[in-house]
Amino acid sequence: MPDETFSFTEYEILEFVQALRESLPGWFTRKSCTREDGHLFFPERNQAWKVAKAKAICRECPVRRQCLEYSFENDFEFGTFGGVSTKERQKFKQEGLSAQGVFDLGE
Ligand code: SF4
Repeated sequence: MPDETFSFTEYEILEFVQALRESLPGWFTRKSCTREDGHLFFPERNQAWKVAKAKAICRECPVRRQCLEYSFENDFEFGTFGGVSTKERQKFKQEGLSAQGVFDLGE
């Protein structure tokens, strides 16, 4: 059986983390949900309380507009982003609204 273990030097790990950071949009470092339970943003059926809690976090987030735009641009199918739930995002997209249009609505 092939050896599936890897070993990296500290330098290689730092290089990887740096490359990862550079590949993310700059606003990622300012998001309010960094220390929140990620499951809140990906509710299962009948977990409206999670959607409500995620939206409350998003309302206070300084990068809400950028997050909403990112979710639209990247066609995120599931999850609450920019204060907009999965169902809402699908509905807005069907209505032809852009992320900016949704943001302007105050959603
Ligand atoms: S808007 Fe919500 S999901 Fe997006 S970064 Fe901010 S807290 Fe996280």
